[in-house]
Amino acid sequence: MTPSGDQLEDAVVSHIEDRPISSILIIIAMQTEALPLVNKFQLTEELSMLPKGVPWVCYRGIYKNLNINLIWPGKDLSLGVDSVGTVSASLVTYASIQALKPDLIINAGTAGGFKAKGASVGDVFLASACAFHDRRIPIPVFDMYGVGLRQAFCSPNLLKELNLKVGKLSTGDSLDMSPQDEASIIANDATIKDMEGAAVAYVADLLKVPAIFVKAVTYIVDGEKPTAEEFLQNLVAVTAALDQAVTQVLDFVNGKCLSQL
Ligand code: SAH
Repeated sequence: MTPSGDQLEDAVVSHIEDRPISSILIIIAMQTEALPLVNKFQLTEELSMLPKGVPWVCYRGIYKNLNINLIWPGKDLSLGVDSVGTVSASLVTYASIQALKPDLIINAGTAGGFKAKGASVGDVFLASACAFHDRRIPIPVFDMYGVGLRQAFCSPNLLKELNLKVGKLSTGDSLDMSPQDEASIIANDATIKDMEGAAVAYVADLLKVPAIFVKAVTYIVDGEKPTAEEFLQNLVAVTAALDQAVTQVLDFVNGKCLSQL
């Protein structure tokens, strides 16, 4: 009997899940978050795989048995600041999946945390799910499309081994939080908020690439504001914690199949 399309697809998926992970795509929005990893893993900039003229930067290298590809959307061409937010994140995710066909995506970065949900500065979270908090479409079913809830790739062994916190991630294109955003973040049951996660999750889901989200808390959204000095001290410490967590993820993933994560 000839296998149906679905059966073939299942066979391909189970084949991927049963062989060791070899290619990792790390997506990071900000240069200060990306450079410590670029240096640590001695990644080198590679230009050929990206469209000409875009600011996106791809760094590549080999760590243990893993091919590491780190994509950073670069600096805005006219303003010179990091291209943060969902538009750049989805574009680089799409382009780099097409070019690299990774086995696993790691979206790493900083995030705001909610102390009411158990977050503290310096915590590193593995997000269990991602959703948007600034896409309000109050029409049945479109409302759920706007929220765009997507589960992260389920990795219970990784979680057990790494001792990270788990929480839901809510994504929006603003760094601050309007009262409407706050209501949606609460409805999303989120512990952390960022500006890229749910966009990366959308593209990863579209192209069927497993994705995990490693987010380090630099700022408590529902607490006293730190002084500028405290914030900068926090940022240095938190970037180091993020760097360490990503390294631990890579060490754990090395030599394993997706089904072992
Ligand atoms: N450097 C600052 C924020 C820079 S702009 C910091 O680390 O806190 C926002 C970038 O940091 C985005 O890429 C976003 O994903 C992340 N981010 C950090 N804190 C955030 C918060 N409280 N809300 C939303 N995004 C946050």
